[in-house]
Amino acid sequence: MKQAFVIGFPIHHSKSPKLHGFWLDHYGIDGSYKAVEVEPDNLTRFIENIQSNGFSGGNVTIPHKERVYEIVDQLDEAATAIGAVNTLWFEGSKLCGGNTDAYGFGANLDAYAPDWRNGDVALVIGAGGAARAIVFEILKSGYSTVHIVNRTYSRASALANMFGSKCKASEWSKLEDLLPTADFIVNTTSIGMDGGNETLLPALNKVKEQAIVTDIVYTPLQTPFLKAADDRQLKTVDGLGMLLHQAVPGFERWFGLRPEVTDDLRNFVLGG
Ligand code: NAP
Repeated sequence: MKQAFVIGFPIHHSKSPKLHGFWLDHYGIDGSYKAVEVEPDNLTRFIENIQSNGFSGGNVTIPHKERVYEIVDQLDEAATAIGAVNTLWFEGSKLCGGNTDAYGFGANLDAYAPDWRNGDVALVIGAGGAARAIVFEILKSGYSTVHIVNRTYSRASALANMFGSKCKASEWSKLEDLLPTADFIVNTTSIGMDGGNETLLPALNKVKEQAIVTDIVYTPLQTPFLKAADDRQLKTVDGLGMLLHQAVPGFERWFGLRPEVTDDLRNFVLGG
């Protein structure tokens, strides 16, 4: 039986066991995927013993993504650029680390708003861990300018510096001026989670009519920011598909079959 894991600290909130469990059942695969809480002090020991504990690999989540990046034997292109690992697998005895968040973000938009890759100016709100993967994917799509606005300006500036001259960091107070310039707008902040305060983000009144708007928060599925965009009849995409699609490459590596993201999966993950 093939086994995979997701490690984090804490880990009880993770939806990954449910998501991979759905695919294991659906495809009738003799495998398991389980959440393992690993305290930061035990991370190195856990990583060293992955194979001897019978695992083919697994996922890595907060707070371990950056430390795992430092200790794997080999990184894929996305993990190298993003500076964080969320997926582990073996090639022989070599431990490989990849980052599938960028892929998941892009694949979700490709499914619901395929035109998103044709824009010229993007606006990324937030500069945390998730924003790094998103800026990477936006640049890969050929955008000429990616504005990054964050409450803490130094983080926006550090992120822009990581990805070069097409990225421009701005103060939070510039958000309202930048919104009308963007073809593609993504909220990567945790504002909006669990009914967070919608007034923290400015109104979308002057946004271009053809702009595509997405939020990576998926609890609630329609954040106040997405609702405001929807009310303005802008094209919107919610964040759940990013979670579902980022899981595809890992499942394929551990269990040998590329799974599909379907409405049934979406409803299953949303339910209960
Ligand atoms: P993070 O590293 O903690 O970054 C949080 C970001 O939100 C920072 O930019 C932070 O700004 C900003 N922020 C938080 N509260 C704010 C407020 N009151 N006003 C303005 N800005 C605020 O978190 P992350 O890993 O990037 O994740 C961000 C969100 O995305 C989380 O809700 C997470 O659940 C979600 N997420 C979804 C997916 C998916 O698959 N859909 C994947 C990853 C993450 P400062 O820098 O100023 O603190």
